[in-house]
Amino acid sequence: MSECVFCKIANGEISSKKVFEDDNFFAIKDIHPISEGHALVISKKHFETILDFPISMGPELISTIKEVSLKVMKEVGATGFNIVQNNFPDSGQLVPHLHFHIIPRKKDDGVKLN
Ligand code: 5GP
Ligand code: ZN
Repeated sequence: MSECVFCKIANGEISSKKVFEDDNFFAIKDIHPISEGHALVISKKHFETILDFPISMGPELISTIKEVSLKVMKEVGATGFNIVQNNFPDSGQLVPHLHFHIIPRKKDDGVKLN
């Protein structure tokens, strides 16, 4: 997947500040945040959508999402968060490499999810 931006970030071809990293996942801040602290949990391996993702990696994924969510919520003083995950262009998926948006929320913050 030589042209995939998240593969390039995963393999270091594009430098990034990772807020989390283990063997199979990493997390970075979204370049266009829709709330303060908006982060992306990204699989290191290229899967296009969640349909390609092995069920066996599910527990590690949930654990990673929980860890990153708690970290960014604490960092920005959020009192809630949304998890958003788009599959295929017609859902709004812009980067065809599996990722989960962690969107920290605060009361009456006016954030609109689309
Ligand atoms: P999607 O619509 O595919 O679910 O969302 C892709 C997200 O990736 C968008 O929110 C976009 O701002 C973010 N993004 C795209 N390219 C980059 C990049 O090079 N660096 C970072 N940090 N975020 C990116
Ligand atoms: Zn990729």
